[in-house]
Amino acid sequence: MTSAVQRHARKARGFEARVAYAVCLLREAAEDHAGRVVQANSLGVEGMVLTDMIARHDLPIAVATLDTGKLHAQTLALIPRIRERYGVDVQVYRPSVEAVVQFVGRHGENAMFDSLALRKACCAMRKIEPMQRLLAGHSAWVTGLRREQSEARRHVPFYELEDNGREKFYPLADWSEADVWHYVARFDVPYNPLHDDWYASIGCAPCTRAVSAGEDPRAGRWWWEHGATKECGLHLQPEVASA
Ligand code: SF4
Repeated sequence: MTSAVQRHARKARGFEARVAYAVCLLREAAEDHAGRVVQANSLGVEGMVLTDMIARHDLPIAVATLDTGKLHAQTLALIPRIRERYGVDVQVYRPSVEAVVQFVGRHGENAMFDSLALRKACCAMRKIEPMQRLLAGHSAWVTGLRREQSEARRHVPFYELEDNGREKFYPLADWSEADVWHYVARFDVPYNPLHDDWYASIGCAPCTRAVSAGEDPRAGRWWWEHGATKECGLHLQPEVASA
């Protein structure tokens, strides 16, 4: 079986400049928001590239992640690997135990397949509420979204000011999949082995599947839904996300 690095890594024209600009944005975020900026690492390959950059350049940016209670074991195993490799203490945020018990008791473990409303309610409980706690007290955050990932992300900027006044940085906005994997190969970045099994975008286990060659990278997320609904709300404004 070929690895994700073997399948995708390729040095494209302008790669060094894109790396330099991404580091520049991270440095700017760290300087402008000293002690108040966090990387939300979803433990997919883009998140790992950003954590590598933050550690490699010794930038004072906190690294945090969500453990929704529904992640693959391979995804969770990356948390101690980050600690071992980079010495970075990953802050882990989980949903409220009480909310999970109530939701599962009322709707079952697989409610996400029953209706779009229940799927969104599950994402609100397991992702959005813990994410709000993760971001609390921070004036800026960093994410690994890329324009190429889906139609819905086609206009991702490098930087934006959210309505709540928090700044959001997207250092990999203009990176291709080949860029991401070339960076992984070059710096030997640890990554989720599910990527080798054709998982392009990795989320919760029940809601993620592998994709075929040439398929949209987000096609494996909530594959039973269509188009515009296929976001969990983490990257929408809070009032929209919780709708
Ligand atoms: Fe629930 Fe699936 Fe959303 Fe995870 S991705 S929070 S399991 S609906």
